[in-house]
Amino acid sequence: MQIENKSPGKDVTEDDLKTKFPLAARQKPGHRSRFTVAGVEFGGDLIPVFAGPNMVESEELIVTTAIAVKERGAHFLRGGAFKPLTFPYRSASYRETREQGIEWLKTAKREAGIPIITEVMEERYLDLVCEVADILQIGSRNMQNYPLLTAAARTGKPIMLKRHFGCSLRDWLGAAEYLLVENNPRVILCERGIVAPHTHRASSRFLMDLQAVPAARELTHLPIACDPSHATFWRPWVAPMALASVAAGADAIMVEVHPDPQNAAVDPLQPIDFDAFAGLMTSMHRVAGAVGRHILQENPS
Ligand code: PEP
Ligand code: MN
Repeated sequence: MQIENKSPGKDVTEDDLKTKFPLAARQKPGHRSRFTVAGVEFGGDLIPVFAGPNMVESEELIVTTAIAVKERGAHFLRGGAFKPLTFPYRSASYRETREQGIEWLKTAKREAGIPIITEVMEERYLDLVCEVADILQIGSRNMQNYPLLTAAARTGKPIMLKRHFGCSLRDWLGAAEYLLVENNPRVILCERGIVAPHTHRASSRFLMDLQAVPAARELTHLPIACDPSHATFWRPWVAPMALASVAAGADAIMVEVHPDPQNAAVDPLQPIDFDAFAGLMTSMHRVAGAVGRHILQENPS
């Protein structure tokens, strides 16, 4: 990935590593950031798993899911209360749950005893989202919303920066640098699929860029997560691509899990159910073992 010292726009140069994103850049081979969030280590042997619905649809849904994914070994509950929805029209089910959703996440966190990763879309909601988030998610669409990145970093909360579906590694690391430069070292990158001409299924929107994992690893010390749910947009492909992500060296996995996937309010083609999640955890643990990592918590309580 690293090429001669020109300014090619897309590829990463030696100069980029020294002057554009010196904080995100790996200092030498094997340099890896390690940090802890809510007692869970990132960047080490463990591969933390974020599981939960796309949307915090209701209190019952999020509490049930929180308990179920925790029991099956997830380290964090995922779910959006503030969501980027592609179209502006809303119905009783297709809507953001916003302030109410944040309250439901608090209940889920308390009742299941599981930390939370959830998206923040706008600077004005940072304080509110920080009340419940253990990790702030910056979604793909906001990856280059620099004022939001700066404000989010200043909260001191760990941040997961999802890769925009059209951006290069250079742009992604440039965005990560906006977080690091605010003295916030707990930054996780997340590959979530890119736009590509052939996606193997008419309704697939994205193609998982698994090469981003080893490619990013050559350039940065930051942990790299993979989200096969958004990347594939298709339930049967989620588990294979989650396993492939682990094999490729992912440092965390985000997966959508829903009690009734077909009836999920948002993106019903992509979540897996609780049983499938349990099976996936077992399989991921096996693959993790084959590449010198592990995924199951020692004592899921
Ligand atoms: C999400 O994780 O809920 C989400 C909206 O993801 P992305 O930003 O990758 O589309
Ligand atoms: Mn193990």
